[in-house]
Amino acid sequence: MNAEIIAVGSELLTPLRLDTNSLYLTRKLGERGIEVVRKSVVGDDHERLTAEIRRAREAVEVVVLSGGLGPTLDDLTRDAAAAALGCELEFHDSIAAGIAERFRRFNRKPAEVNKRQAYVLAGAEILENPRGTAPGQWFEDENGILILLPGPPRELKPLFEASCLPRFDRRESPFRYFTHSMRVAGIGESDVDQRIGPIYSAERRVATTILSAPGDIQIHLRARARTAAEARVIAESLGTKIQDELGRAVYTLADEPLEAVVAGLLREKGLKLAAAESCTGGLLAGKITAVPGSSEFFAGSLVSYSEQAKIDWLGVDAAILEAHGAVSEPAAAAMAQAARGCAAQALGSPAIGIATTGIAGPAGATEENPVGTVYFGIADDNGVVVKRRQLGAGRDRVRALAVQTGLDLIRRRVLGLPVSA
Ligand code: ATP
Ligand code: MG
Repeated sequence: MNAEIIAVGSELLTPLRLDTNSLYLTRKLGERGIEVVRKSVVGDDHERLTAEIRRAREAVEVVVLSGGLGPTLDDLTRDAAAAALGCELEFHDSIAAGIAERFRRFNRKPAEVNKRQAYVLAGAEILENPRGTAPGQWFEDENGILILLPGPPRELKPLFEASCLPRFDRRESPFRYFTHSMRVAGIGESDVDQRIGPIYSAERRVATTILSAPGDIQIHLRARARTAAEARVIAESLGTKIQDELGRAVYTLADEPLEAVVAGLLREKGLKLAAAESCTGGLLAGKITAVPGSSEFFAGSLVSYSEQAKIDWLGVDAAILEAHGAVSEPAAAAMAQAARGCAAQALGSPAIGIATTGIAGPAGATEENPVGTVYFGIADDNGVVVKRRQLGAGRDRVRALAVQTGLDLIRRRVLGLPVSA
């Protein structure tokens, strides 16, 4: 089955409100194997909404509407759905009584307009809304399914979960689905796609999605088959082929970010970590400390942004900075060694130090170090290595990429992998 989602509400057409309901609905429908092929946002306009519902009903089997079920005159979804279906709205005493009862509990009297919420499309099933006054509606005929859901996410989600998902589950679908995911660090999105494109496009039974954020790529493989077990085998065997191509750049098969994987490795190996951050300004520490329990292995981070801080706080030799500059291989090495010393002193050995120093831009570039140049130092029992990376442009992006690259270097070092991807 395929579906369309129509989010209703003029506020969703302003820069102030975002339609998030459709993200939730897309995920839930996708898990049931119902593909959302289009979604739209329509303001509180009777004609436009009626036309949109009609168009969507022609195009797909399931149309989900969110919002516009409130009591006020700008809540038009019921009326527009009735117009699009060419059916009547029927007044339900039981809904009106329920609304009145709800108002009584809050010591208020329902206004006349609240009666609008007691109208239901003729032939539709009423979906109880325990969190609000407007019930949802499930309408089904030979042209497909039309679902009306209240707009507030705190009402929509439990209602959809309790009333809609079981209805979908009861329908006999000939297909079962399985999604296999993996996450990749240290390779850019276009490189990943170039390398794995030929592999996944040869497997027609799997829908492949690649989601990319700076320094983190998620690959989702959704397989379709007659049984769930068969779908799993198809998705996982494609996953194995992709892993063979990408090697250890695949850092997890679970739904977890890089910092969680790094934390797991440090814990497992009993390693302690500290950071000396210049261009990342504490963002690396932010990521690591976002992992619960990180105090067990993370001693802290020195945000040594100025040269003087590198000298006074980390004990970096002033002569190194004078000779090579703060954005240099020797500076990164000295910073990493200082961080390692701090980790060992605070939490004990064996310890790792990570350092970042670079040009996030837009100013500060030199001929030698253009914007986006970042040096990473990593010091452990085996000595210190420095990697120089060119991370592109855009201050936020460079800094975010530097954090991911730093985390990935820790991962690779701890696993004994070569530090260049
Ligand atoms: P109400 O009885 O609250 O009026 P309703 O079904 O008429 O419910 P709307 O008036 O469309 O719903 O929306 C109510 C609130 O719910 C909005 O102010 C908005 O904050 C939130 N909302 C509506 N639609 C969405 C959406 N698609 N994504 C996220 N939030 C939404
Ligand atoms: Mg409303």
